[in-house]
Amino acid sequence: MSELNETNKNASLENSETISWFPGHMAKTRRMLTEKVKLADLIVEVLDARIPESSANPDLDGIVGQKARIVLLNKADIADPVWTKHWVDVLARRGKKCAAVDARTDKDKGIKSVVGFLRDAAAAKLVSLKSKGIRSGAVRVLVVGIPNVGKSSLINRLAAKHAAATGNKPGVTRGPQWIKVADGLELLDTPGLLWPRLGDWTTAYKLAVTGAIKDEVFDVRAVVFWLFDFLKMKYPFYLAKRYGLSFPLPASATDLLSCIATGRGFIGRGGVIDEERALRAVLKDFRNGDLGSVTLEYPDEPAMEH
Ligand code: GDP
Repeated sequence: MSELNETNKNASLENSETISWFPGHMAKTRRMLTEKVKLADLIVEVLDARIPESSANPDLDGIVGQKARIVLLNKADIADPVWTKHWVDVLARRGKKCAAVDARTDKDKGIKSVVGFLRDAAAAKLVSLKSKGIRSGAVRVLVVGIPNVGKSSLINRLAAKHAAATGNKPGVTRGPQWIKVADGLELLDTPGLLWPRLGDWTTAYKLAVTGAIKDEVFDVRAVVFWLFDFLKMKYPFYLAKRYGLSFPLPASATDLLSCIATGRGFIGRGGVIDEERALRAVLKDFRNGDLGSVTLEYPDEPAMEH
């Protein structure tokens, strides 16, 4: 696929060559990231649990090289738990150190184990610091991922845990950005990074619907209609429940949208349906998890026997 540019707005995603999802500042972000990687002992790749494949930057291997890396599937609270478990198994089988988390509410208290997970992954560095008698040294962890995947939420939550556990304020150490999240563990947030070439247009739909690509640069109607198709196929009861619909659901996406708009009272002057408002509402519902816990892509590998 060809390089994307910033001039074409509201293109249909099937013509994804024309979508500006790699604005100029991303090239700068990539350069900055390459520099920061040199300072890090460990990379935390934050993926969206709803799209573990589509949220993985194919350029990351080239950027982080051989640095130790762990993968966190964030937003697990709004992904389908059965599939999240499956994804964690599959990624582990692919040789990744991986865990699922919910950085927003930490309802299942998974964040607590992340510090231990980071320590394990950085064990070699900690041993080497200790053997050299370096007390003040810390393992430095670079947190990377696409825009809006929850990198800042994750760091804030980890930092807050530390403050609660030790009674200390989470310290900003050595410069403004490294955040101390536990003794001997410092994290650095990085700006969200996308990549310039799309694999296929469904990847773009998934990134758009989950909020990684700015709404202004894609056709919201096309994205929501794609989501309707997916939900009708995989989670029709969620649609029915959220919008008070009965089965069979309307066959066409336009009719489904009309039903949702009518049900919500999104009617403009002269009784005209406010489609735009309905589209935004559906997108918001999906992104907040109000439509239900939905996973948008599944691994090829079969589930593991437990
Ligand atoms: P960043 O751009 O990667 O730093 O992402 P942010 O931390 O700013 O989060 C982007 C949005 O996702 C915010 O609205 C967060 O509240 C939300 N968010 C972050 N983590 C989670 C999570 O684990 N679950 C849910 N449901 N929302 C999350």
